[in-house]
Amino acid sequence: MTALLNKTALVTGASRGIGRATAVALARAGAYVLVHYGRSAQKAESVVAEIQMKGGRATAISADLGTSDGAALLAKQVRSIVGDRLDVLVLNAGISKSAAVADYTVEDFDKLFATNVRGPFFVVQQLLPVLGEGSNIVVISSLVARMVVGKPGLENPSILAYASTKGALETLIRNWAGILGPSGIRVNAVAPGVIDTDMSNFTKTEAGREVALGMQALKRLGKPEDVADVVAFVVSDGARWITGASIPVDGGSKL
Ligand code: NAD
Repeated sequence: MTALLNKTALVTGASRGIGRATAVALARAGAYVLVHYGRSAQKAESVVAEIQMKGGRATAISADLGTSDGAALLAKQVRSIVGDRLDVLVLNAGISKSAAVADYTVEDFDKLFATNVRGPFFVVQQLLPVLGEGSNIVVISSLVARMVVGKPGLENPSILAYASTKGALETLIRNWAGILGPSGIRVNAVAPGVIDTDMSNFTKTEAGREVALGMQALKRLGKPEDVADVVAFVVSDGARWITGASIPVDGGSKL
């Protein structure tokens, strides 16, 4: 596949999970991929090695997107590598937390919003000078931006704060799409259901797996590659008339 030949791409949080699979998919489509990571240099280098082994091009770069200057530090590195043009920006890095409503702390809430919302907001702001006609931004949202999952109840653990970070991202993509559309930049979200990664460790138990399969029409766990292939499509010319959309990639969850 050569849909992204001669294009540059940045994937945040690409050392594992959905980010890793997305970096590999974009490189397979021909893009030169910047593999961003927070702390796992070794894992990020292994993604770069995998891409290079398959004949692709990639470089690992690091920044903690939970800090107030993380986005600016990341953008500075990106701009020094790509020069004046970034074709694809995938905002994937994120954290989650599950707790009973009464157990959330202000620190939990601030950390979730700093990493999942403030980080992407300022990465886009800082990279605007290198985004232009034909560039694409994709945010990894979630099914939970629109639906309540699990067993709602005061005693039960819930991911409501995490879910609201994804709701904020879905509002942002529509605003970005409106603001950046006249410049020829498309902005979309991809909203996965349960995907088998480190983040969804509840699926490692039989009970957790049953909960996930119980809400899906398709009866297997989603894989990072299921999401990555959709991201690769959304940033390709085949999706040229799609912007401001959130595309569910969830095996038909909660139909
Ligand atoms: P993951 O935990 O394996 O990946 C998250 C990535 O984000 C990691 O590479 C991590 O290092 C990076 N990251 C986290 N905090 C960071 C920080 N402060 N600075 C830099 N990098 C940071 O989980 P995943 O499932 O691959 O998650 C990827 C995205 O997909 C997330 O945005 C997540 O919310 C979303 N998502 C996941 C699922 C699922 O079921 N796994 C479902 C819907 C949405």
